[in-house]
Amino acid sequence: MFIRLIIAILISGLSSSVASKEVAAGPVERELRLRAADVTIPVQRPVDKREFPSLPKLKKAETSAPEITVETPQPAFDEACFVKLSKTAFVSRASPPISKDPQCVIPSPVILHRTLGGRSVKFTDGLLLDCNFARQYAGFSSTTLQKLAKKHLNAGVTELHSGQGFVCRRRNNRSTGKLSEHAFGNALDLLGFKFNDGSSLNIRKAVDMPARQADFFNSLREASCGAFTTVLGPGSNPAHATHLHLDLGRSKENPNPYRICE
Ligand SMILES: [Zn+2]
Repeated sequence: MFIRLIIAILISGLSSSVASKEVAAGPVERELRLRAADVTIPVQRPVDKREFPSLPKLKKAETSAPEITVETPQPAFDEACFVKLSKTAFVSRASPPISKDPQCVIPSPVILHRTLGGRSVKFTDGLLLDCNFARQYAGFSSTTLQKLAKKHLNAGVTELHSGQGFVCRRRNNRSTGKLSEHAFGNALDLLGFKFNDGSSLNIRKAVDMPARQADFFNSLREASCGAFTTVLGPGSNPAHATHLHLDLGRSKENPNPYRICE
């Protein structure tokens, strides 16, 4: 009984102590407590895995990008051109050239060995060219070339010392810039000629040519401008000091043939 009395006294004292502290808190403190009670703390919603289905794991081989092989589309071979060219030249079909630059493409690749018609002109090396360019050159060789040789030298051309046909390179052998027409089999370099009287002409020695040979060469160069769209030779620029360059170039910007005759 005595112990119960003591416990009752202690509980009573403790309650009055808490109450006295509540009373001690001022109106500002109470206000702050009320505001804090009003604040709603958002509860993070558990992630629903159905909304983020896990991606299938890649197999090891799929983690690296697949190797892409770029093939340059080869235009259809111009069969009609080949039939016509075969009547004016000894020519064979050629495989498309394999080049580092996929832009170097010959539309209808042929190897020109000899032009026919009138007097035959042998090439020192078979030239890889586009059929349509080869046709244009074969026609020029059997008509204009032979006529001018007859007129100025009273001789016939029997052999062409030829330079480059197809070469995958840029203009004037530069490392940048537009591709040369040689890169499309659309150009030919002439280095010199042999004639049926045993004489020969070397374009490299254009400045020292005998008068009759110089007349022949100059008239040939002039006539080339009517048959080809670009003609460059000794005096045009250092890159063409040793040969006569002929091509049938067309720029992408201007599909009509442009003419450079230097
Ligand atoms: Zn050339």
